[in-house]
Amino acid sequence: MGAPEAFTATTDVGHHIGGCRVPGTSGRQQPVYHPASGRVARQVALASVDEVGAAIAAAKAAFPAWADTPPIRRARVLNAFLQLLNQHRDTLAAMITAEHGKVFTDAQGEVSRGIDIVEFACGAPQLLKGDYTEQVSTGIDNWTMRQPLGVVAGVTPFNFPCMVPLWMFPLALAAGNSFVLKPSERDPSPSLFMADLLKQAGLPDGVFNVVQGDKVAVDALLTHPDVKALSFVGSTPIAHYLYQAGAQHGKRVQALGGAKNHMVVMPDADLEQAVDALIGSAYGSAGERCMAISVAVLVGDIGDRIIPKLAERARALKVMDPMDLRAEMGPIVTREARDRIEGYVAQGVAEGAQLVVDGRGLTVPGLEGGFFTGGTLFDHVTPAMRIYREEIFGPVLACVRAKDFAEAVHLVNEHEYGNGVACFTSDGGIAREFARRVQVGMVGINVPIPVPMAWHGFGGWKRSLFGDTHAYGEEGLRFYTKQKSVMQRWPESIGKGAEFNFPVSK
Ligand code: NAD
Repeated sequence: MGAPEAFTATTDVGHHIGGCRVPGTSGRQQPVYHPASGRVARQVALASVDEVGAAIAAAKAAFPAWADTPPIRRARVLNAFLQLLNQHRDTLAAMITAEHGKVFTDAQGEVSRGIDIVEFACGAPQLLKGDYTEQVSTGIDNWTMRQPLGVVAGVTPFNFPCMVPLWMFPLALAAGNSFVLKPSERDPSPSLFMADLLKQAGLPDGVFNVVQGDKVAVDALLTHPDVKALSFVGSTPIAHYLYQAGAQHGKRVQALGGAKNHMVVMPDADLEQAVDALIGSAYGSAGERCMAISVAVLVGDIGDRIIPKLAERARALKVMDPMDLRAEMGPIVTREARDRIEGYVAQGVAEGAQLVVDGRGLTVPGLEGGFFTGGTLFDHVTPAMRIYREEIFGPVLACVRAKDFAEAVHLVNEHEYGNGVACFTSDGGIAREFARRVQVGMVGINVPIPVPMAWHGFGGWKRSLFGDTHAYGEEGLRFYTKQKSVMQRWPESIGKGAEFNFPVSK
């Protein structure tokens, strides 16, 4: 593969409303950085309440005709979108790398996993077909159907500017809803590009809209009576806030939050495989993944055997320009996020954790202004420490020692987050017990980042998810539809006289 083409546009990023790109008119905007160099690359508009209102109005106007469009024809539009996504996957990946900072090959992976959901959504007519029971009583049939909600909204985080919106809108659109997306203001360009592709695919104007913005835009979506449901992915405090405020305004809400994913390494695990898994899942995407492993629970004697190997690999990480195909780790998304991460490293030292590898203060030659930090490794972290309890969202791996399996599972289950977890072992009984006992929504057995496939659905437990449906998969489709039950009989089967008793099957 030759060098990929970088995304260097300097055009300001506005909204996509009613099928057109529209510039911001609120007078508010903020810089979008190129994290690898630290330079401001472009500005993103921050929507006003009125601009959000315009997007909702466009979606509301487009809804009835789209909801009436036969599911197979809606799926055909998604199929055309799928072809375009495949055609432009590297353009999208380069946009992600430019604004987020993750390495290009990782961004390609993000686009691929998003495409999986579109493929799944293309088959939605099968899932929308409902149930039918003939003759629930003499001459009476009963069936259920799933109908769209109306205007639905998505609010997404910076760390997957393409994949996380794709967790939401393909299924929402397949089900016949219209959509307003509020992407992260830190990497807003992929959302507009996807809006253009949907238009090219034949999606009617107004069915999909993008408003850029911050809390003002989110609150406008949360309180608007025409928004029927809201999907959120981001940090736990904001997820909790959206869940509460959405419920207060009568909306259906699914709000996926933060994480502190543990990987339990049993003494019988294959050492080299466990090292590879920890290095890739702790430092990939510079730890800015909700499924990153940030805690290694080292059981028994594996701790002393694995730490030197982890240290050697953490020190050797190739941290460089994320468009360089040799890069293993790129910069952090913003200077503030980098400083926050390095602040946590100082906190860990102050709390008495053993700093084995210190990633702070790393500079990349030629990119001295970039928001880089290296991989950090702590050993002998304890549950009382903030670096154990809180989500750092950076390339910091905290190793905790546990004497046995029971203590390891207890640690995982006591943590407030429950997004993903992994157990590395060669014992089938341990693996089975772990998967059964662990209080976490997504479990990997010898799989460090168990992000479920498109048709299985994604969601954590505890404070990693507020709401009861997971993102995408059949649960996703259920979230974006409401069930209606119809009972029918024809005049010739209707008996004579009023019935005052509760109807039973006859
Ligand atoms: P964030 O919570 O800061 O922002 C997410 C979205 O909420 C953005 O669109 C942002 O504009 C908006 N927002 C921010 N502050 C707000 C406020 N006060 N009121 C209303 N809206 C507000 O999250 P982030 O930093 O963009 O993303 C990283 C976080 O997302 C991490 O905590 C990570 O674990 C989490 N995440 C979770 C999942 C998951 O599936 N559980 C997936 C990806 C990321």
